[in-house]
Amino acid sequence: MIKKIIVVGSFVVDLTSRASHLPVPGETVIGSAFKLGPGGKGANQGVAAKRAGADIVMVTKVGKDAFGDIALKNFRDEGFDTKHILLDDEKETGSALIMVDENSGQNMILVVSGACANFSKEDISRIEAEIISSDILLTQLEINMDAIEKSVDIAYQNNVDIVLNPAPIQDVSDELLRKVKYITPNEIEASILTGVEIKKPEHASDSAKVFFEKGVKNVVITLGEMGVYVSDGQKEEWVEPYKVKAVETTGAGDAFNGGFVTALSEGKNLFEAARYGNAVGALSVTKLGTAPAMPYKKDIEEFIRSKG
Ligand code: ADP
Repeated sequence: MIKKIIVVGSFVVDLTSRASHLPVPGETVIGSAFKLGPGGKGANQGVAAKRAGADIVMVTKVGKDAFGDIALKNFRDEGFDTKHILLDDEKETGSALIMVDENSGQNMILVVSGACANFSKEDISRIEAEIISSDILLTQLEINMDAIEKSVDIAYQNNVDIVLNPAPIQDVSDELLRKVKYITPNEIEASILTGVEIKKPEHASDSAKVFFEKGVKNVVITLGEMGVYVSDGQKEEWVEPYKVKAVETTGAGDAFNGGFVTALSEGKNLFEAARYGNAVGALSVTKLGTAPAMPYKKDIEEFIRSKG
């Protein structure tokens, strides 16, 4: 049976400019391309999961403005029910100014969360029944923390599995961590949350130990083009990265998380789900953009088949 996923997370409009180099403070750089499109970690991961075939409900909050209209249209186009896309009376829709160095692929990002960091207690009460009727809650750290904590509490009390992608990085209480079934940081986030610097892949195992001590049940650390470290506390595994030509790595973690939860929802185990996420992450870096770069189920299956 396919399990139901709920994402409680951010939506921001991505304003992406590309240039031959990134500006330093005070410098103005003439760019070569500009694109406006849907983004935000919650929405990106939701879209990645939806395209991978998940049964998924999207919860986010946007402003009553032009960017909010883009959000609603985007979610409808992706096939989502928009009844849990909440509207904020005051705050503007979130935005992300993304600058990409077209030579190195490196990026700089400035996010103003706006409406999606303005979830009220009433908003969470409105989605309570939807969380309870789900099997998996996927959330990140891009909305207000009290809303994350409340959603996690509701999920935890009702045996809904909690997947936390701790990005963008900020402090997470031990109280929250102990309720998390799967944590999916990248190596920088894992280093900061555990105090174990991951300079070499082997350090991931030490970092994971700290998460286990805090009560997290399963640890999945993504290491970009070095692949993925996975552990359930008993068994650990390195998932080898796929060799692909990367054109833009923005959103790789989001693609990974969308793929990972989709595989979990299909009954795959932790290690299988990480391998599936690894394929979705790899595919996403072969295309420009964040949400628009998320691959579809058939592309993912073809890719995995073609790579043997
Ligand atoms: P984030 O975007 O959060 O920093 P990562 O860069 O760790 O996340 O990427 C997430 C996952 O996507 C990686 O663990 C890997 O599976 C895949 N991935 C990312 N970059 C590449 C790459 N250049 N080649 C192959 N796979 C990649």
